[in-house]
Amino acid sequence: MEFELNEVQTIFKHLVHDFVVKEVKPRAKETDEKAEFNWPAVRKMGPLGLLGLEVPEEYGGSGVDAISVAIAIEELGWGCGSTALAIAAHNGLALGPIVNFGTRDQKQKWLPPLATGQGRLACLGLTEPGAGSDLQGGIRTVAVKEGDSWIIDGNKMWLTNASISDVMVLLVRTDRTGGSRSLSQIIVPTDSDGISIGPAEKKMGLKGSPTHAVTFEEVQVPLENLLGEEGRGLQQTLTTLDGGRVGIGALAVGLAQAAYEEALKYAQERETFGKAIAQHQAIQWMLADAATEIQAARWMVYWAAWLRGQGKPYTKAAAMAKLFATEVSERVCRNAIQVHGGYGYSSEFAVERFYRDTRLMTIGEGTSEIQRLIITRSLLSGK
Ligand SMILES: Cc1cc2nc3c(=O)[nH]c(=O)nc-3n(C[C@H](O)[C@H](O)[C@H](O)COP(=O)(O)OP(=O)(O)OC[C@H]3O[C@@H](n4cnc5c(N)ncnc54)[C@H](O)[C@@H]3O)c2cc1C
Repeated sequence: MEFELNEVQTIFKHLVHDFVVKEVKPRAKETDEKAEFNWPAVRKMGPLGLLGLEVPEEYGGSGVDAISVAIAIEELGWGCGSTALAIAAHNGLALGPIVNFGTRDQKQKWLPPLATGQGRLACLGLTEPGAGSDLQGGIRTVAVKEGDSWIIDGNKMWLTNASISDVMVLLVRTDRTGGSRSLSQIIVPTDSDGISIGPAEKKMGLKGSPTHAVTFEEVQVPLENLLGEEGRGLQQTLTTLDGGRVGIGALAVGLAQAAYEEALKYAQERETFGKAIAQHQAIQWMLADAATEIQAARWMVYWAAWLRGQGKPYTKAAAMAKLFATEVSERVCRNAIQVHGGYGYSSEFAVERFYRDTRLMTIGEGTSEIQRLIITRSLLSGK
């Protein structure tokens, strides 16, 4: 059976693509150079449903299917890695757990302004100075019950969107015994007393996506801000990351597609030894490999998204899609520079930015090593 997008997905893809062509791609260079978040475009995303991709319509979202979510992130990634990362984190990492684990009251309170663009964005805080891949063993940020409140103390690192968010979903230790039920998720408004957001990290790429360390000193939030079940924070996080990985895979496909298109164009314009470099077999092979691998990566991403949409287990598929798509993207962006020769190393040419941007994709939301670990665990358990 041949895979094809259905009519609704096709229309949605064109809608997002046209928006990205107009509002996102033309500003991508400036977004990177000035390290400035593209608010003008993001403010227009609410009415298009891009800020509430996974949010049901009754809470102001677009509630599109899982493949359409991937399509949206892929298109944004094609336009601008920085903007795509911010929107992927907002939708999948931050609103996702509220949609999946929130009470009706929590959904009614938090989702509509964030999904419609009336508020700012949202972020997810897992990583700490001493905890990234190993969240269960490493998390030191604690939340202690006092009367009607949680009191939160600790430090988080690398929070995408922290300075442009109204709310964060925080993974904290609520039981110091350290067992598998010692972590919980809590919804924390970013304007709470005791929160200090550090300056934007100086990064290799994705410079228009602000990333921050955040400190929590006796931050007080109501007990009702517990998200999901106390002690189930790690499991809820792992579920959230399964979805997030499909998003990062899609973003990587978008970046790879953009790099491939630039390489294809340049290869037909640049001449050496009396002919366009696209006529040299070495260049042709790079283009052929890129087109092939991108197509395979895209279908792996859609496959994982499809499983997700069907409510079937997709942890392994998401890990495979992320691992493959992000490593393909790195290869394709690397070769797009190679096709450009010396010009590819110049910031005047977009391929230089794509390469820097895609470098994160094999690290964030679980490194490639962790994806291989997840895949192997699944293989060994016969799933
Ligand atoms: C730009 C950017 C944005 C980010 N956004 C967010 C965000 O919004 N929210 C958030 O919470 N975090 C965010 N992160 C953090 C990111 O998710 C972590 O950096 C990532 O999960 C890796 O964790 P770590 O940096 O602590 O590396 P470590 O866990 O210290 O890993 C270091 C190295 O050891 C390897 N390794 C670790 N354990 C194993 C193992 N068991 N087997 C084999 N190899 C292993 C890793 O693969 C890696 O190569 C972001 C990071 C960046 C750079």
